[in-house]
Amino acid sequence: MTAQREWFEKDYYATLGVPKDATAKDVTRAYRKLARDLHPDANPGDAAAEARFKEVSAAYDVIGDEERRAEYDQVRAMGPVGGSMGGGFGGPGGFSAGFPGGAGFDLGDLFGGLFGGQGGGGHGGRRGADLETRLTLSFVEAVEGVTTSVHLVSDAACSTCGGNGARPGTRPTTCSACAGRGVQADDQGPFSFSRPCGSCGGRGQQVDDPCGACRGSGSERRPREVKVRIPAGVDDGQRIRLKGRGEPGRGGPNGDLFVVVSVEPHARFGRRGDHLTVGVSITYPQAVLGAEVQVPTLDGGTVTLKVPAGTRSGQAFRIRGRGIPAKWGSGDLLATVEVHVPAEPTDAERAAVEALANTMAEGSDEADDATDAS
Ligand SMILES: [Zn+2]
Ligand SMILES: [Zn+2]
Repeated sequence: MTAQREWFEKDYYATLGVPKDATAKDVTRAYRKLARDLHPDANPGDAAAEARFKEVSAAYDVIGDEERRAEYDQVRAMGPVGGSMGGGFGGPGGFSAGFPGGAGFDLGDLFGGLFGGQGGGGHGGRRGADLETRLTLSFVEAVEGVTTSVHLVSDAACSTCGGNGARPGTRPTTCSACAGRGVQADDQGPFSFSRPCGSCGGRGQQVDDPCGACRGSGSERRPREVKVRIPAGVDDGQRIRLKGRGEPGRGGPNGDLFVVVSVEPHARFGRRGDHLTVGVSITYPQAVLGAEVQVPTLDGGTVTLKVPAGTRSGQAFRIRGRGIPAKWGSGDLLATVEVHVPAEPTDAERAAVEALANTMAEGSDEADDATDAS
């Protein structure tokens, strides 16, 4: 539910700097430009840029997706009303607002497509709660995507009574307090909010002879295994919404499952956004003269990198398109070369380096000092 709660507070259009009626193409273009400018690669060590980068990504996750953008727009249109409802979304009751003039409407209906028709227990059933779980992935699984299972314990309809809370063989009866509507009107001021019925808890029905297994609640805790498909390119800390995979609904739709991903580090590769990073060792002669070296790729292969003459240790090279697959094409492989210094040179190497040292000393102004020191 947190994802939607954020929608009330955050103006994703402003985050991306586009008007509310921007076309999908414009949204994507604005996002790409911001993502490029704010990318951690372009701003190493800049925490503010990184925070902005995350905000921009979160905004694009929603308004870059046609279906989620429509939901977001709907939620935003409800802004002030929704905001005043506070923590009420998860509750079983129906919320209805009566406007002066009698044009009453049921918020449950308006939110029906979003939060599932949890309005009016008497005529809609109940949407299952949203659930959140953590999932640890290997570095490669996160890059390539994976289908796996998560284990959850959540409320489900009681298997003894089928979820109606009545002892098998008996049936719940219509609640006399609310006449089955599940709500009680609360007429105060121009807005009248209905409250869930106190007698039946919003269900519109009462149980005279409760089920022994669930004591009339209609639900039981049950372990479940949920198959989840994690898309390629997810990053550490990312939250993935799996629609309808949360707590089963009771007469209403299922809740959503949010999977928070932890990604294990890789022994060889690192990651910056959609770019992969890797260290490559080269020799001093290769650095001075230039060379073609083999850079490992994540799939176990290699790619040839042309290191130019005069390369410094710590210099980074970009190998385009060999990074993490992303929505708009893959990121890059960023290879940082390190000049390898042998800890125990062979006699031949030592002689060669001494000859080099002498050559360099002759070419220097402090030739005498350098010779004395050795
Ligand atoms: Zn039961
Ligand atoms: Zn009632």
